[in-house]
Amino acid sequence: MSHLMNTYARLPVAFTHGEGVWLYDENGKRYLDALSGIAVSTLGHNHPRLVRAITEQAGRVLHTSNVYRIPLQEALSDRLAAVSGMDEVFMCNSGCEANEAAIKLARMFGHNRGVDLPNIIVMENAFHGRTLATLSATGNRKTQAGFDPLVPGFVRVPYRDIEAVRRVAEHNNHVVAVMLEIVQGEGGVNMAEDDYLRELRAICDERGWLLMLDEVQCGMGRTGEWFGWQHAGVKPDVMTLAKGLASGVPIGACLTSGAAAGLFGPGNHGSTFGGNPLACAASLATLDAIEQDGLMASAVAVGDEIRRGIGEALAGLEGVVDIRGRGLMIGIELDRPCGELVGKALEAGLLINVTAERVVRLLPALIFTTADAQALVAGLAPLIRDFLQKA
Ligand SMILES: *Cc1c(COP(=O)(O)O)cnc(C)c1O
Repeated sequence: MSHLMNTYARLPVAFTHGEGVWLYDENGKRYLDALSGIAVSTLGHNHPRLVRAITEQAGRVLHTSNVYRIPLQEALSDRLAAVSGMDEVFMCNSGCEANEAAIKLARMFGHNRGVDLPNIIVMENAFHGRTLATLSATGNRKTQAGFDPLVPGFVRVPYRDIEAVRRVAEHNNHVVAVMLEIVQGEGGVNMAEDDYLRELRAICDERGWLLMLDEVQCGMGRTGEWFGWQHAGVKPDVMTLAKGLASGVPIGACLTSGAAAGLFGPGNHGSTFGGNPLACAASLATLDAIEQDGLMASAVAVGDEIRRGIGEALAGLEGVVDIRGRGLMIGIELDRPCGELVGKALEAGLLINVTAERVVRLLPALIFTTADAQALVAGLAPLIRDFLQKA
């Protein structure tokens, strides 16, 4: 009997090592990794630049403490500020922690303005994590089931419905912030339109609310810009990052600007591991590679190639509802639950994911090439075709 707590429905495979976009299992079989550990392995596996940065740092010092100055953390915050235009960075270890920091910031922001019981508007089908506050913000009853009482202070509206936000604004004067994903990952690769984001920004400005964007999955170059909001030119007051931020080494970050900056002082928030020298070295190497190897431009071209190729291969096939996404965040929505495709793909040597029951989700590493994209399409399209035709 395994002593692991039974928190995951795991696939019956274990990988021993990886090389670029490939993972190898215990029997030496190789798999094309189109999931990247759920948008984590930005640079794929065993990337020389990342391996060098990590081993060099491990030979110097892994961890000191936030009791002391950490020059690599300062350097990383400078880099993140430069690519985002944000002012301040708090570092933690995961996406839910980054969002916890954002939620605490919004509450403190509200209290400072005399709102005793601040509310945050959140979206249906959102995913923000599994700590108590972030699962309360998450728009999925399955994630929440069994954990009542939830953390209060969240008001839910349908995603991409600006009128719903306006209606809340009219009769709820406890609202201090809106929190959402530019591209909903777990929710099914649902994208907010640029106009919707601009209108949200305008409402936030008008009402004095914080716009808080969860870029944990769609950030770090995946959509073809550093951050998803850069496509729409809509800058948030708070932004959270994690997943791909250090290409596999755990790290998260909560960034603030404008009215959201300067809210926390010593004692308001903290993390033992957050932004330790090892994680920061890995993150800096990840940022360097994204920038110097042109990985954002490549994410656009390769993502387009995958969508085009899948579209072409499945053209005219009944059961394909939509093929969507931006850059290397891709959703193929079918008209029926398709979880079994994950196991079929595994047999065929492809690592993919299905989310929101009916959406095949692809999150390849940013080092995917056009040839990798073609191999992915050639492997995946027949599986989807067979699946849809047999039913
Ligand atoms: C994965 C994810 C989280 C949670 O991140 P963890 O590191 O698992 O805590 C939060 N928000 C979004 C958008 C995510 O995709």
